[in-house]
Amino acid sequence: MEIQANAKLNLTLDVLGRRPDGYHDMRMIMQSITLSDTLTLEPDGGEELRVQSNLQFLPTGEKNLAAQAALRFWEARGLTPRGMTITIRKNIPVCAGMAGGSSDGAAVLRALNRMEGEPFSPEELARIGARVGSDVPYCVLGGTALAEGRGEELTPLPPLSTCWVVVCKPEFSISTPALFAQIDRVRLRCHPDTRGAVAALEAGDLEGVARRLYNVFEDALPDRQRTRVQEIKSTLIQCGALGASMSGTGPTVFGLFHREDRAREADAQLREYNRETFLAQTV
Ligand code: ATP
Repeated sequence: MEIQANAKLNLTLDVLGRRPDGYHDMRMIMQSITLSDTLTLEPDGGEELRVQSNLQFLPTGEKNLAAQAALRFWEARGLTPRGMTITIRKNIPVCAGMAGGSSDGAAVLRALNRMEGEPFSPEELARIGARVGSDVPYCVLGGTALAEGRGEELTPLPPLSTCWVVVCKPEFSISTPALFAQIDRVRLRCHPDTRGAVAALEAGDLEGVARRLYNVFEDALPDRQRTRVQEIKSTLIQCGALGASMSGTGPTVFGLFHREDRAREADAQLREYNRETFLAQTV
C-alpha cells in the first residue's frame, strides 16, 4: 500500500508554561500542506519490521517513527507484529518544525488500519499515535486544528481557505531542547492572538488568519538565526505574502499567498539561497 504523509505548519504557536512533568503546555493552530513524504508498506510474510528511505542518516529500525507506529498499532490490536518493509520517499525536510517524522508515523497507522479493514476509528488511531509522539495524533487527523496540552489535545477547526504556501528551510539546524530551555529564560514580549485567528478561520477570512501568524519560538532564537528568519519573512512579504511566520521550533519559515504568481516568485527568489524551498498548497 502506498500512502502520503503531509507536512504541517503552525499558523500560531504559543507556549503557556512549564508543567510539573517537565513538558510545556502549548496552544497552537496546526495546518496540513501538500508537501509530503510517500510511504510504501509491503508485507512479506516474515517476522521482521524493516524501514528504508532515500536519506542515509534516518534510522532504519525501531527508532524510526514509522516503525514505532507500526509496533504500537499491532500492540493495540493485541497481535504480534507482522513482517513488513516500509519504504519512505522523504520530501519533508528533517528536523525542520514540520513534523515530518510524526507524519510518517501517522501515515503508517492510517495505512495499517486500512489494510486491516478499519478496526479503529480515526479518534482511536489518534490515541494510539499519542504513544509514538505528541504531534502524531494531529498528523493522523490532519487539516486545520487547535492543539493544546503537549499537542495531543485536539479540537478540529474550520479549514483554512485553500491558498498557496511557500516553505523555506534555512541552512542551519535548531536544537529543540535548547530552544525549550531558552523559552523558559526569555520574557516573551508577545503571544499570538489565537482566539482572533480561530474567529478568522470561522469567518473564512484568510487575510485575518494571515495577519495573526505568530510563533513565540522566534523570540527565543539566537540573534543570528533570528535575523536569518526575519530576512526570509521579509522576502516573503515583499513578494506579496499575506503573512509569514516560523513553523514549530523552526527553522522553517513559510508565507501564505492568495496569488499563485506571487508565490512562484517568492519560491524562485528564496530557492537561489536555500536549497530546501518548496511551493505547496494548504490541505
Ligand atoms: P516536529 O515539528 O514534530 O518538532 P521536526 O520536523 O522538528 O518535528 P522530524 O523531522 O519529524 O523533526 O524528526 C526529527 C528526528 O526524528 C530526527 O532526529 C530523525 O532522525 C528522527 N526520525 C525518526 N523517524 C523519522 C522519520 N520517519 N522521518 C524523519 N525523522 C525521523
